[in-house]
Amino acid sequence: MTTQRFRGPALPDGEARDLYVVDGHVTLEAVAGAETAAEGWIVPGLVDAHCHLGLDEHGAVDEETTERQALADRDAGSLLLRDCGSPADTRWVQERDDLPRLVRCGRHLARTRRYIRNFAHEIEPDELPAYVAREAEAGDGWVKLVGDWISRDDGDLAPSFPAEAFAAGIATAHEHGARVTAHCFGETVLPWLVDAGIDCIEHGTGLTLDLVETMAARGTALVPTAHQLNNFPMYAAQGAERFPAYADHMLDLHARRRETIMAAYEAGVPIYAGTDAGGVLPHGLIADEVAELASYGMPAEYALGAASWRAREWLGWNATLEEGAPADFVVYPRDPRQDLSVLREPTAVVLRGQVV
Ligand SMILES: [Zn+2]
Repeated sequence: MTTQRFRGPALPDGEARDLYVVDGHVTLEAVAGAETAAEGWIVPGLVDAHCHLGLDEHGAVDEETTERQALADRDAGSLLLRDCGSPADTRWVQERDDLPRLVRCGRHLARTRRYIRNFAHEIEPDELPAYVAREAEAGDGWVKLVGDWISRDDGDLAPSFPAEAFAAGIATAHEHGARVTAHCFGETVLPWLVDAGIDCIEHGTGLTLDLVETMAARGTALVPTAHQLNNFPMYAAQGAERFPAYADHMLDLHARRRETIMAAYEAGVPIYAGTDAGGVLPHGLIADEVAELASYGMPAEYALGAASWRAREWLGWNATLEEGAPADFVVYPRDPRQDLSVLREPTAVVLRGQVV
């Protein structure tokens, strides 16, 4: 088989290179007789750092639907997915060479009747460490907690568990070598989780100036799912009649979302791009998420790195297309740092050395 060559400036440094693909890996050493497969701006495989495979708004879906979700992500250039909680067993995806690489969090851990039906293991505080241990063993190094959700008793967002239960759960995950992340919309739960040493916060609309400083100092990551935050007015409207305080709270968090996320960025909190696909949103929207982050005021290069080289490194993969790196990359006709809309029109998507 003829060796394929990809030519052009490779990000993040933007230096012009010839990349040759041999046995699914990149080599920079010229291979005689290689044919140019694509030319353009070459970006390390995109990362969707918060999506859900095998899940729709009603719960687990069948394998055919899961496959369609994964293919939509792949064709959008997302070649590494951090699944942020799924009730489906999606381990089979990892055996398929034509589907994106997958880092699974296992199933969401939520309080009894305090999350979307059919999504989570719904448990009580004393059960949290045992369930965390189980999901840590079943997943790929991550555990997903539901930090807060509407409490029908309070009529507002409220933490899912007491602070001590969260702390015990996070400690258990770390003992099992897993990192922990949590869904958080409101303010109250965030200092509990950050103080307990959580590794990442999802959404994070309730972050305060003090707390982003602490997160930056500790290296706690943030995946804002900016595109998903645009749905807050819809969630507010759905709850407005029965839970007016909740609705007002969601609208306030929504109104402040740009300031909040940019305060985290300014403080130096590492931010990664996640679409929150599955559940409500469709798969394949990584370009929209990057554009949305940039629209908050992050430099285009930072927003792109949040969905590529920085996120890859964070998840334990090669950040750059160096000698011997897996040949997972996307070729674009223009420099995406100058024009992020080009992320919607890849010239070539290369996964495990195959143009897909
Ligand atoms: Zn999610």
